[in-house]
Amino acid sequence: MKRRCEICGKAIPKERLEALPDTRRCIECARTNGTDYSPRRTEVGMDIDTYKDLLGAVRS
Ligand SMILES: [Zn+2]
Repeated sequence: MKRRCEICGKAIPKERLEALPDTRRCIECARTNGTDYSPRRTEVGMDIDTYKDLLGAVRS
């Protein structure tokens, strides 16, 4: 299943979708415009710093 970024229209990498199944923005647009995804500890199971590290890992 491919999902495209709602802003730039580029395909969102599947690694990002695996990490953030509900996201609708690619990493670049999430950084530029802010993510549409608000992690909640109970849902994501990680704190915000871990979440940011994960985004960095997905990007590389
Ligand atoms: Zn984008």
